[in-house]
Amino acid sequence: MHGTDIQKSGGEALARPSDSEDLSTTASTLCALPNQPDPVAFKQAMDQIRRRRKYFFATVIAYMPAMWLANKISPTFRSMAITFSIWVVVLFITALYSALARCPRCGHYFHMNGMSLLYLRRCLHCQNHINAS
Ligand SMILES: [Zn+2]
Repeated sequence: MHGTDIQKSGGEALARPSDSEDLSTTASTLCALPNQPDPVAFKQAMDQIRRRRKYFFATVIAYMPAMWLANKISPTFRSMAITFSIWVVVLFITALYSALARCPRCGHYFHMNGMSLLYLRRCLHCQNHINAS
């Protein structure tokens, strides 16, 4: 009884090597593009990363005009401190927002590798360029 079971399963494995090969090739193509294999979705994901980066850098650049404006409107330490706190909160949110954008090619976070957050022009995992579409 037991012996026939082994024979049966062994025979099955021998009978369909071509089937399993087909399955593994389709699986590997899916693995290479885990999220979206279609180019439209890829472009959309890259656009999203670019947009989120833009928000982040815009916030960084907005620091000087924001502080200047706050100083013009009300040149007290209190108002400057409030403006600075708001700016820090906005910076934190935009940094988080862009850090959580996923690379469409490898599926990892585009700007984050472990604990390091780097705003480079390439994916920290697969070197996918920011202008790839
Ligand atoms: Zn990547």
